[in-house]
Amino acid sequence: MKKYILIADDSDVIRSIVEQTLRLYHYDNIITAIDGQDALGKAKENKNDIALYVFDVNMPKMDGISLVKEVRAFDSTTPIIMLTTETDKAKMMTARDNGATGWIIKPFQGDKFIRVVEMYLKP
Ligand SMILES: [Mg+2]
Repeated sequence: MKKYILIADDSDVIRSIVEQTLRLYHYDNIITAIDGQDALGKAKENKNDIALYVFDVNMPKMDGISLVKEVRAFDSTTPIIMLTTETDKAKMMTARDNGATGWIIKPFQGDKFIRVVEMYLKP
């Protein structure tokens, strides 16, 4: 049974908002990463146990789009939600072409975020 949600965002604030929101809705198995490279390492380590990825688009070391490409090389099916801003819309198309499943525009409301998460976690 896949249980982890892997969150990658270079912003401490966004990371903790996402984590707190998930915990509020009783998603307690969370792995956090501070940039794309950190996320890739953690994705590989836990690849058989990850139910959902949540990736920021703009991160140091490795951006979210490159991260999607790298993860899709060994995991073609687990949903990937991108965290993006209004101005990143062109990048979203690129992310989708590379295998991202959906996206959430920042800033977001907790209940809307959870609705998207639940949509992609459903079998
Ligand atoms: Mg960022």
